[in-house]
Amino acid sequence: MSKQNIAIIGGGPASLMLACSLDANKFNISIYEKNAALGRKFLVAGKGGFNLTHSEDLVQFAKRYQPKEFVEPFLSHFSNTDFRNWLKQIGIETYLGTSKRVFPVKGIKPIEVLNAH
Ligand SMILES: Cc1cc2nc3c(=O)[nH]c(=O)nc-3n(C[C@H](O)[C@H](O)[C@H](O)COP(=O)(O)OP(=O)(O)OC[C@H]3O[C@@H](n4cnc5c(N)ncnc54)[C@H](O)[C@@H]3O)c2cc1C
Repeated sequence: MSKQNIAIIGGGPASLMLACSLDANKFNISIYEKNAALGRKFLVAGKGGFNLTHSEDLVQFAKRYQPKEFVEPFLSHFSNTDFRNWLKQIGIETYLGTSKRVFPVKGIKPIEVLNAH
């Protein structure tokens, strides 16, 4: 069976996460980015604290989003804990800061997180 083509517009973290979650055996996936490289804002973000997510429980976590009813089903399908586990699978170990935010362990640079897969 021939593969379906999927075009993703924009190469930010959301698009990269979507591309990673699609089955490359079933789809030809193309990402179109208007800037020279993918994930530039991600790399800018990495110059600061570079928290990847927050570890608080899902009830509280969902309240951070508006409208929370829209986001809740997505979070219950793929939670902040699932995200941490997925990062571990692709070689990015994380730790909890005192604020309970999740950071890559010391020594892992933003570009390494961006390129990990
Ligand atoms: C200084 C700074 C620090 C930050 N620190 C953190 C942090 O520590 N932790 C955290 O979780 N978040 C942080 N953020 C926020 C984080 O960067 C954003 O939440 C994240 O980048 C959003 O991802 P996105 O994929 O939704 O959008 P974006 O990262 O904005 O990606 C969208 C992409 O689409 C491209 N695009 C847009 N229109 C088109 C088009 N028509 N055709 C082709 N390409 C197009 C853009 O060029 C861009 O590359 C920070 C942001 C900034 C600015």
